[in-house]
Amino acid sequence: MSVEALSSLDFFQGLQSRFGQIFAGFRQHAALLDNLLLTAWQSFEANVGSQTQGLPELDCHKGCATCCTLRVTATAPEVFMLARFIRAVTPGLQKHGVDLRAQIAKANEVTCGVGESDRIGVRQRCPFIAQGVCVVYQVRPLACRGLASYDRKACAQAASGKIDEIPYSEPHMRIRSLVQNAMQSALRDAGVAWANYELNQSLLMALDDESLEQRWLQGEDVLKAAQVNEVDPAEMAATFDQLKLA
Ligand code: SF4
Repeated sequence: MSVEALSSLDFFQGLQSRFGQIFAGFRQHAALLDNLLLTAWQSFEANVGSQTQGLPELDCHKGCATCCTLRVTATAPEVFMLARFIRAVTPGLQKHGVDLRAQIAKANEVTCGVGESDRIGVRQRCPFIAQGVCVVYQVRPLACRGLASYDRKACAQAASGKIDEIPYSEPHMRIRSLVQNAMQSALRDAGVAWANYELNQSLLMALDDESLEQRWLQGEDVLKAAQVNEVDPAEMAATFDQLKLA
């Protein structure tokens, strides 16, 4: 399903319905997260691919992690998928002296409770950056996927507080919002917590208590302490309802 062929509304409705079907079909299966997130990532990548055709080339390159000092938010499925991934790679990394949980905890000491605009001044690197590369790249959140720049110099200047505006790719940001909102709407309909959470804090919670994933599935808002509320949840819920009925 592509945004190109459909309107943004049709795209949102179709994807929301697909996420709902996945949730209903896999709720009791360990493969729920894989199915939800593979659908989200594939839909994002395919649509960004078609929507950016003919536009200037991005200036993002492997090894540049300038934007990885910004605050990252993620939905509960993304947080729990990352927690699974980190548990799986931890034994291998520990042999090389790398302790991802300790790195997240250290970053969280600096970032916990710091709002989005203040995070720019804090300039705390994401705990997953190693030699300029994201070590969780294949399972990185939609928020990271949706940030792509046409000008690396502008990113660096913005990170050092010299300018405010960065020429980000509009299709990346728009499609990330559509995909994420469609998933959040489906999670809400399924009766599970559908908020956005600050990544360091929520991930640490998920890593430290393996039962949280199951409790989230049972409807408990287990990551609430890390919730980001820049948009009023009631307003978001009303918008989702309007979009579903439109
Ligand atoms: S998860 Fe990866 S892409 Fe996202 S901010 Fe961290 S290092 Fe950067």
